[in-house]
Amino acid sequence: MKSIVVVYAGGKTGYRFEKAFDSKSAFDRVIEWSFLFESSVQTLVFTDPDNLSFVNKELSNIKNVSVVTKENWTNALIASETAAAQASFKADYAVLAWADTPFLNKALCLEIEKTHVQYRAEYTFADGFALGLTCSAADKGACSIIAALAQDSQKASGEKAASRDALFSIMSGDINSFEVETVIADKDYRMLRLNFECTTKAGFTLCRKLYEKARENNLSLESADFDIYKISDLAERSAELLKTLPSFYNIQISAKYNTKSLYIPCDRLSQVKNLSDMKLEDFRALVKKIYEFSENAYVSLSLFGEPSDNADFKEFACEVLKYPSLNLFIETDGLNFSKETAAAIAECNSRERVDIAVRLDAVDENMYSKINGTDGSNFKKALECVSLLNGYFEGHVYPQFTRMKANEGQLESFFRFWNEKTGPSSGKFIIVKYDSFAGLLSDEKPADLSPLERNPCWHLRRDMNILSDGTVIMCRTRFEEACGNAFKASLEEIWSNLTAEVQSHIEQNYCEKCRNCDEYYTFNF
Ligand code: SF4
Repeated sequence: MKSIVVVYAGGKTGYRFEKAFDSKSAFDRVIEWSFLFESSVQTLVFTDPDNLSFVNKELSNIKNVSVVTKENWTNALIASETAAAQASFKADYAVLAWADTPFLNKALCLEIEKTHVQYRAEYTFADGFALGLTCSAADKGACSIIAALAQDSQKASGEKAASRDALFSIMSGDINSFEVETVIADKDYRMLRLNFECTTKAGFTLCRKLYEKARENNLSLESADFDIYKISDLAERSAELLKTLPSFYNIQISAKYNTKSLYIPCDRLSQVKNLSDMKLEDFRALVKKIYEFSENAYVSLSLFGEPSDNADFKEFACEVLKYPSLNLFIETDGLNFSKETAAAIAECNSRERVDIAVRLDAVDENMYSKINGTDGSNFKKALECVSLLNGYFEGHVYPQFTRMKANEGQLESFFRFWNEKTGPSSGKFIIVKYDSFAGLLSDEKPADLSPLERNPCWHLRRDMNILSDGTVIMCRTRFEEACGNAFKASLEEIWSNLTAEVQSHIEQNYCEKCRNCDEYYTFNF
């Protein structure tokens, strides 16, 4: 049987051509890996004009690789070009991978190929491993069918920009029509949510750290011939790998609340509640630092206070949206959110990067008043705010319900009302878990949803919480513990101060607050 290997090198260039792995880049390593398949008659690189000069430079001394250049790669185009290449090289199947994944594993990829051939599958992939370590295989007939589906019943999936699961995303709309085989991991690593790719800064940081860590532990990653389980276990045990860069910055721009919600310990946040509003010039410098450190991140303006109570609220929001790789998140009570403010934020022309949660917690005035410690007439105001905001940010506005013993009886009605696609939030809503702040508040959660096995806290791995005076706190619950000041120190230095705490969680050593906290399994974005 004959095959071809298709390497996708289109879209954002990121760090895929950086010589970060002993003078080799992720791209170099993927091309080397493509020659491991004895059945392969040709390696093809799918790329676009933005990446072409890099691709040509890297391939200048390499034979038997051809390059296909298109302006805009979609899932449909990957399917049709793969089918065309299979026909042209008379290949029975194609092996597919991305050019930014430096650690494609030889043994696993050859097993995928063997399974594909042995069971005459139309599509074969691996499941249970961290992303970026494996490839997929697709039969020549299947690729033609997938390409046809992408023009017809699965047009919506086909038109999307090329994704890592390009073929599968089209097939999944008609999955029972395909013979799919899966190579399942002996141990499930999906919960770690690791993605060994070199397009984002976080992924590139992860890959570089894994490479160093592997060497320190005599588990060389110099070739594709490494033990995937030993490497995955190493990643699972290492705080530096589980915690690469912050992806969620939760920032306090106002310390005031308009409500006394039962799930917010307003009066007990000793170090926090008397702070002044954050100054716009401090915030501007902070957002620049965030962009430079993380590149891609969500910036929330709602840590411990109602953001719309800051006099410069709209300027804060627009400042975040100036950076095209940052997303804005606002959690609001909706009581002071004016039409002018909504319009000003919408004018930043980045509506798809804005998400807003409006705290409701009820389906009637009485319950709203009981949960939020404010006059029931404010319920109408908050509802009107949902409609107002959805007019500007349709599909990005989420009525929010914090689930407690007191309002559990209204959960179903809340779900039914807001789930309607024709409703005031276009069918969007959020149900949030109650947080007692490790026992600072009484236990009001109606159900225990925590997993059987405890994981290292997602908030330590992904979040940076910044008070209005610049103080970075360990997390929302451990608000008395300062880890540095984001106005004065570099974010890199502060972030590294949190690493030891993640290692403690890996080793299941918890401080008293963490022991009594069940927020570890929840995460933001
Ligand atoms: S377990 Fe709770 S207290 Fe501990 S770091 Fe995570 S969120 Fe904070």
